Amino acid sequence: MPRLAYANGRFLPHAQAAVHVEDRGYQFGDGVYEVVSVLNKRPIDMDGHLDRLDRSLRELRIDWPVTRSVLNVLMRQILRRNGIRNGIVYIQVTRGVAPRDHKFPKNAAPSLVMTTSKVNHLGASRFRDGAKVVTIPDIRWTRCDIKSTSLLPNCLGKQTAAEAGAYEAWQVTDDGFITEGTSSNAWIVTDKGELVTRAPTSEILNGITRISILKIAEEEGIDFVERPFCKSEALLAREAFTTSATSFVTPVVQIDNTKIGDGSPGRLSKALMKHYENYIDTLSEL
Ligand code: PMP
Repeated sequence: MPRLAYANGRFLPHAQAAVHVEDRGYQFGDGVYEVVSVLNKRPIDMDGHLDRLDRSLRELRIDWPVTRSVLNVLMRQILRRNGIRNGIVYIQVTRGVAPRDHKFPKNAAPSLVMTTSKVNHLGASRFRDGAKVVTIPDIRWTRCDIKSTSLLPNCLGKQTAAEAGAYEAWQVTDDGFITEGTSSNAWIVTDKGELVTRAPTSEILNGITRISILKIAEEEGIDFVERPFCKSEALLAREAFTTSATSFVTPVVQIDNTKIGDGSPGRLSKALMKHYENYIDTLSEL
């Protein structure tokens, strides 16, 4: 079965799927996206991702390329047709194709592209060993709440992490506060045992995984607080972890050159990952 991609109304062999050279996503990064993970044939938090896609589109005044319910069907279709038992589906919507001009085109139709990949999520060694993160200055714009395809600062940051042998880079504001990772949300358990993550303002992307973990914490009676935390507080933390659709709950055992806790995945981080896996087991299959 050839791997298929979806591009503007058609399923095509992955290598042949393409968009126009004047697609505004390509020329301006004028688009939004979502990544939904699938574990044991269960897409995780599809509704949450579609809610956030709707929000991103509205904030940028891009129309839905198809209705939400059609997109839901198309996502399931590409996952099934590509036989994705464990992996991801990537969905991208741009403002469409138009002669290059910064201002919005008058009558371009939004473009919709979808791809899938197989990923053995739980096979990653970081769940057992924990991950290292480095800190970098947060050089992004002030609308990080929009899941835009304009990801240049995030790419630069992730490259810095990779060159340092780290899994992720956590971004730090001028006044020393950690906002989030380049593709994940940052969490700590303070030396007093308080679970902390930044509130969902326009300085971070409100992760769908973040939302699910907060819901789980609430259900499990685990206290948490949504507030900014600075790098020096993180370095002294008992535990740290980073969350995203593809990271799940990834324990952080080192920040820059400082070991976190005893340098192995923390108790609460591991417990939250376990609860998250149990939660995924309750979701419906493709
Ligand atoms: N922050 C940023 C900057 C991201 O790119 C992501 C991943 N898309 C997240 C946080 C985590 O979001 P989610 O849990 O929805 O994957």
